[in-house]
Parts: sequence; C-alpha cells; structure tokens
Amino acid sequence: MTKYVYDFAEGNKDLKDLLGGKGANLAEMTNIGLPVPPGFTITTEACRAYLVDGAEPDGLRAEVADHLARLEAGIGRRLGDPADPLLVSVRSGAKFSMPGMMETVLNVGLNDESVHGLAAQSGSERFAWDSYRRLIQMFGKIVLGIDPERFDDALEDKKRARGSDSDLDLTTDDFRTLVTAYKKIVRDATGRDFPQDPAEQMSQAVRAVFDSWNAERAILYRRQERIPADLGTAVNIVAMVFGNLGMDSGTGVAFTRDPASGAQGIYGDYLQNAQGEDVVAGIRNTVPLQQLAEIDRASYDQLLEIMATLERHYRDLCDIEFTIERGKLWMLQTRVGKRTAAAAYVIANQLVDEGMIDLDEAVRRVNGAQLAQLMFPRFDTEAKKERIARGMNASPGAAVGKVVFDSYTAVKWSRSGEKVILVRRETNPDDLNGMIAAEGILTSRGGKTSHAAVVARGMGKTCVCGAEELDVDTKGRRLTTRDGLVVEEGDVLSIDGSNGMVYRGEVPVVSSPVVEYFEGRQETTAVESDVLVKAVHRIMTRADEVRCLGVRANADTPEDAARARRFGAQGVGLCRTEHMFLGDRRQHVERLILADTETERESALAALLPLQREDFVGIFTAMNGLPVTVRLLDPPLHEFLPDITELSVRVALAEARGDANENDLRLLQAVHKLHEQNPMLGLRGVRLGLVIPGLFTMQVRAIAEAAAQCRAAGGNPHAEIMIPLVGTVQELEIIRAEAEEVLAEVSRESGADLHCLIGTMIELPRAALTAGQIAGAAEFFSFGTNDLTQTVWGFSRDDVEAAFFSAYLEKGIFGVSPFETLDTDGVGRLVRLATEEGRAARPELKVGVCGEHGGDPDSVHFFHQVGLDYVSCSPFRVPVARLEAGRAALQSSDSDTR
Ligand code: PEP
Ligand code: MG
Repeated sequence: MTKYVYDFAEGNKDLKDLLGGKGANLAEMTNIGLPVPPGFTITTEACRAYLVDGAEPDGLRAEVADHLARLEAGIGRRLGDPADPLLVSVRSGAKFSMPGMMETVLNVGLNDESVHGLAAQSGSERFAWDSYRRLIQMFGKIVLGIDPERFDDALEDKKRARGSDSDLDLTTDDFRTLVTAYKKIVRDATGRDFPQDPAEQMSQAVRAVFDSWNAERAILYRRQERIPADLGTAVNIVAMVFGNLGMDSGTGVAFTRDPASGAQGIYGDYLQNAQGEDVVAGIRNTVPLQQLAEIDRASYDQLLEIMATLERHYRDLCDIEFTIERGKLWMLQTRVGKRTAAAAYVIANQLVDEGMIDLDEAVRRVNGAQLAQLMFPRFDTEAKKERIARGMNASPGAAVGKVVFDSYTAVKWSRSGEKVILVRRETNPDDLNGMIAAEGILTSRGGKTSHAAVVARGMGKTCVCGAEELDVDTKGRRLTTRDGLVVEEGDVLSIDGSNGMVYRGEVPVVSSPVVEYFEGRQETTAVESDVLVKAVHRIMTRADEVRCLGVRANADTPEDAARARRFGAQGVGLCRTEHMFLGDRRQHVERLILADTETERESALAALLPLQREDFVGIFTAMNGLPVTVRLLDPPLHEFLPDITELSVRVALAEARGDANENDLRLLQAVHKLHEQNPMLGLRGVRLGLVIPGLFTMQVRAIAEAAAQCRAAGGNPHAEIMIPLVGTVQELEIIRAEAEEVLAEVSRESGADLHCLIGTMIELPRAALTAGQIAGAAEFFSFGTNDLTQTVWGFSRDDVEAAFFSAYLEKGIFGVSPFETLDTDGVGRLVRLATEEGRAARPELKVGVCGEHGGDPDSVHFFHQVGLDYVSCSPFRVPVARLEAGRAALQSSDSDTR
C-alpha cells in the first residue's frame, strides 16, 4: 500500500518531490539532531490523489490517525484533550514555494473545553483565550475563506476600547469576548458553527491545503514559472510550541549571513511574547536579533550554534524561523535563503574560501541575471535621498528626470534635450513613444506583468510600477504622495528600478564597479580590495575556463567592437550594416534607388564604397586577429527614404505653390513604389541583393578592400560575409558566386589572399527546414532568432509586444516573452534540426546565433545543449553570456557523470 504519511524522523532534505520543501527540511533538521517540534508530513502523492479523485485517498485517514497517535504518545498529550490538550499547526509546503498557497493555521485542537485545559497547562488564562481567538481567526480566514477584515476590525475595536494600539494590553476578558465575536462572524459568514471537534478541524485544514494547490494565484504562478500543474503540495502537521507564553518566550527570523551584502554576521529580527506571523506582520516593532543575547543568553548562544551547523550542513546561506517557549529554543523552518545579486557572488566566493564548496559550485550558484543587475548604473549609496514612495522593481536601473504625465510631452521635452520620467497610472500601447523617449517609467498601478513592466523590460528601460502610495492626476499634471507632497510636471524625480524606490529630486548616479572592472578601468589592487569585484573576477575566470561556447558580440561601430572586446568578446558575430547608410549617406542611397541608368547607379555605389570601406577598417582594427561577421544590407530600402506622409504633404504644398521640385516628385514615386504593407516580410535581406544590381557586390568589395588595407598595415583581419534572410539555397548560390568573384578580383588587385568565409543567417523556417541544402553553399550559419521567432510564430514584434504581450503574460500563455527567452519547443526545435542537418551536409560548418537570445541566460543553456560554436550578443551582455556558457558546460558535465 502507498505510504502517504512520513514522520519527520523518516524524511530528509532530498525528498522535496514527496515531502515538499518545508517538510523535507524539517525532516533534515530533525535528523541532524536540531530541536524541531515533533510532527509528520502528508505527502504530495496524497494531494495528487485527492486532486484527481476529489476525495482523500483510501487509507490516508487511518495513516494520519496512526501518526497522530504516535505524536500524542511521544508528547504525552492528546489532541483536544479537555484537561491537557495537544495543539498542532497545519502548514502547506510544495516542492517550490509559491504565492497563493495556503498560509499556516496554528493552534488546531482548541475548542470551548480544551481552552480551559490549555489555561491550566500553561498557567495563563489570557494566553489560552488569545490562542483560541487566533485559531478561529486563522481558520476562518484561511480554511473557510472569510474576509479577514471582519476579524481584524473586531480586534481593532477591542484595542480602541482599551485605548491601546498593542495586543499586549488586551486582557483575558477581552480575548474571551473576542472568541464569542469571532464565532459569530464564522456563523454569519458560513451558516455553520466553528467546528469544535479537533479531528474535524485538522481534516478540514488538511483539505484546505490540498485545495489551495488550485488557488487562482498559484495556478497563474505555476503557468508563468513553468511549474508542472500536477506536482501537488505536502501538508505538515507540527506539534505547537508557543512564543506567546510571556516575556521569556518569543519568535524570530534569521539569516546565517547578510542576504543583502553577503557579509558574515548575525542578521534577523526577534519579537518577544509573540506567535507565528506576528514578526513579519509588523504588529509590534521587532528588535534586532543581537538583542536576544541580552534577553535570553542561553537561547541566543544555542541559536548561533545551530545557525553554524545549518550552514555547514547546507553549505549555503540559510534562512530560519524559530520560536522560544519559556526559554526553550525550537526550530520551525529552514531553507536555503534568497539573496541579492551582490550577496550571491560574495557568498559563493566566501564559501570557496571557507572550503565549503569548490569553485565550480560557486559558478553554479550565481547566474547571469544577477550579473546583469550588477552591471546597471546605480544611485550613489552615500548620497542623501528623500524617498517619497515605493513601488515594484519592474525593470532595473537608476533613472533621473523631469516628471511628465503623457507621452506627447515626454517626446516633446526629450527632443529638446530634457531627461524625463514618464509617470502614468498605467501605460497602454499609446504610450509607446513616450516610453521610448523617457529615461524611466513610473506607474501607480499594475504589477510586474503590467504593460509598463513588460515593455520597459523589453526595452531595457528603468521602470517602477504599482507605486500605489502615489495618487497620479494626469489631467491636473501632478502627483500627490501619501504625505500630501505634490510633485508637479517638470519637477525632478529619481527612480530605482532595482528596488522600486522613488526619490524626490536628483540623486547622483554612479557607474557600477563591476562594469569598471570589465572595462579594465580598475587597478589590480582595487580588484583585490573590493569583495564584490573580486568574487565576480574569480567566478568569471572559472566560467571562461570551462565553457565550450564561444562568445561574440553584435557590434556595428569600432567603439562598440572595442568595448565588446574589453568585455571578453571573441569576435563580432553580427555587424549590421544598415545604419552605415543613414545620415549624410542617405543622399547616396536615394540616388541609388532613383537611378535610371547604369551610370547613375554606379556613381551612387562608387560614392558609398569608400565610406563603407572606412567603416570596416575601423571595426577590423578594433577586432584585430578575431573574426568579424559582416551582414550585408538587410532592411527594406524605403527605410532610407523620407516618410511617405511627410513627402506627400511637401509635394502637395509645392504643387499648390506651383514650384514642385523634380527630384521630390521622383522620390515620391519611388516611395510609393517601394511602400509595403508588411515590410518585415517584404523586399529585404538577400532579396535586395538579388534585385538591386551592384549593391551587395559593392559591400563585398568594401569588406575585401578594408581587409586588404588592414593586412597591408600589418593587421590580421578575419572578415566573414553573411547573407541575411535566405529562404532557399538558390538565392545563396547566386550571391555567393558574385561575392567570390569580387573577392578574387580584390585579391588580384591587392596581392593579398583574401579568403573569407561566406555564410548565411538562418532566420526563416524554410531556411531551417532545408538547412542541409543551404549548407552546400554556406560555410557558416548564424541563427537570427529575432526574425526566426517572428516568422515561426507569425508575430510582427513591433506590433505584438505593445499590443497584447502583457495580456499573454497575465494569462500565463507565456512565462516570458519568446523574444526574450528562446521558445525552445518551437523555434528551438528548428535551431536543433538545422544545426544537425547543416552539419550532416558539411561537417566543418560553423554554427552560431546572433539574435538577442544570444545574451539570454536560459537560451544560452539551450544553445550549449544543441552544440552551437558560439553565441553573439550586445556588448553589454557579453559577460552574462560568458558566465552562462560556463554554467551550462558545468551542468551538462554533471548530467554526464550522473
Ligand atoms: C535576427 O533576426 O535575429 C537578427 C539578428 O537580425 P535583425 O534583428 O537585425 O533582424
Ligand atoms: Mg533578422
């Protein structure tokens, strides 16, 4: 028969699947001899059976009764005994801690009779009645789903009647009458009496835990985090210990190191004469844990010893909850604790120094998202700040600017050189331009999946959302804080997207020491003395040693290429050439488009050639000795022509005045001719090269001549020529033949051997599906996962992100945007297939990726698994990709040896 219930002594920390996180850790602490109140765990398997059948599985009740009897025998008290009752708590605990799951119900086992027994047992009537009212309150709210405010209001009334704001001033009689009032609330709300039978209380609470698995918030969270819906939760039944038995009792939380900085020391809060959630609920002020040393030295010393034991045992920072009952310390919970990004690096490094973990484990313990956070500029911690509100930290960074309340003003002011913060109640797709123009976005409503949050993160723009303390009056162009402070349009605010803080005025911004380090601007001694930078350096060095993936950068200018190189890039994986055709050069592109004769076209191309050559010389020089993949022109040509509406108006006005300009007329004709309904799917990429004679060959010549020039100057350029948006091998064959001819010509002219790899982007499903054929004409593939995601999903990114992605995220259709993290099931499947078939056709084929996913941690792990040669990402993401490539290599070597 299936075993559904485990005593704490029967489990261990590796049984999280079966016992949930809390149950597994309670078992572990029991087994290493720490003082844990006795109890047992009902397994996730029982929950799964309950959820499938709608009823408790056969045998569960008997098994629970059996374990309860053992618990009673061990303690020498029976649940609900009128003379000397055992009380228990009922706690949910799934494998992953999830919002929305049931909160803890304490004091189960109290009723109108056993409350007297508890009074006798504890010697305190006040305590007994306080415990009873707490049970009805928690049970009512958590198990029966009664609005908690009804209980809170009754309690507040009592306090007010006493003229006090502390529950410590309430008397036995107050609690006794509160019990009566609470029971009435239960009856009024549910039509039933509060259950007096302790076994019934327990089984209702257990069922409520099972049911909470399907609470709305829990379902949404699982969908977003891709946690399987059928794991179920465990239930922990634990003998009660009491922190509210007087001033020699209390309850607290602690961390074994500082979760903010990672510093070693004692961090926590303690509250005397309190129970359960009182510490975090803020009903009274807690004291720093150190003060426990004065309150109860013996318990304090024992607690420190236990914390050291837990750290050694878990080999990591732990967070704990404990209770002291009349001078006896009890451990109620522990787990490996959450920490800030900086603390994660510092702690991993300390643990290596302390010999608790090896360096590979340190690399596994940190991640690229944390590294990215450490690279954002931030507010000077030394600076004086006036905080006016706090919202959610939706998108990291530190932004300072003048407050504006609509997009139009944001755009207008930013055009005139002002830095602005766009403040809205919520944003919607109409705010997009304002969001682009602003330094940061602040909203008073909406959570981390609101439109503002999603779009800001996508843009990498600082955002604080849901700052509910702020009353935003967009019509009146002002916001008001809770304290009545009014901020008018044009006043300056500073917002911190890393912690959600909103400050009045300008807070000075400093660049991150981690970026200074990557830039090589820190002296070696500074690297040694800054604990964070030292930790980052050590972990990055190891990640570089173990990674298999190369890391390149997407860079279009010599400056970007140079920075990428300082950040550790091993080449340029994508040099987009389109912006080399903007600015002053637009006139040549216009001439090219308008050319009627071969001579006119050649003259436009001839004007562009030396300019392009110079561009490439700069980038090849910055990346001397390393490969530079230059992509030939990709976007549709109308992007280089004037806007159709603007031009139409100009021509119409000129015609009305009778002085129409011949060139404008021709231009307008061309703009109309080139206008596309769906430019993303139109005349772009390789298609341009095939229909605009001379365009691609001019670019290839510029690349070849630049390489020859660098070579002649003693350099070592490695150009690679990349053709975008290929759908069929025939396209590539034609362009390839032309390019080879140009390369041969320039080789002859310059006397240098200018062999360049010629390859293609794979960014259309057809290209991926026919990769075997395409590899016949390509020496390398680079997955353009931006376009591949658009074309596989049938999404136009510019349209869909603002229009409905926030709705998709809210509904849990995506946990994360497929433009941020690769959709491995769909897009990734094509990446794998194309890599395999490409390499089957050409074993030496080099394969990389240059879409934005190249710098996304989860996607990097996938590319490692597929066995790509490199990822390429924006210069700023290069360190993130290096780290994650290292972590991916360690993870796969773990699974090989398993
Ligand atoms: C891509 O499509 O992934 C890519 C890198 O090209 P672009 O983003 O320039 O279209
Ligand atoms: Mg593309």
